Amino acid sequence: MRPVPQPTALSQPFWDACARGELVFLECRACATRFFPPLPACVHCLSEDVHWRRSAGRGSVYSFTVMHREPSPGFAVPSVLAIVEIDEGYAMFGNIVGYDPAEVSIGLPVEVFFEELANGLRLPNFRPRAT
Ligand SMILES: [Zn+2]
Repeated sequence: MRPVPQPTALSQPFWDACARGELVFLECRACATRFFPPLPACVHCLSEDVHWRRSAGRGSVYSFTVMHREPSPGFAVPSVLAIVEIDEGYAMFGNIVGYDPAEVSIGLPVEVFFEELANGLRLPNFRPRAT
């Protein structure tokens, strides 16, 4: 069975947002750095004055790999795992879904959509978008 994310106290607001169909990230009030994944302090200045912001869920492929062997049972292959540069100025891992892996390229414009998992969580994935 495909493993599913296990929310922590730190990541729960992210998963709650995904359940609403929203992608969110953390922003530092002290220096305005935006980052992901969630951490208790700013990755730039270590301020703990960070807050959640909503993302439009649009970005582009920074780098990617095509997986031909499932990392554990339950994953579809081939599949594309990418680092996506989100327009608001941070990056995150995500799967590029609904696209021929041979056609994925660096710089490909993508947008988020949410996949419902076996434990009821909604996982953000990405799909190509028209510029
Ligand atoms: Zn900061």
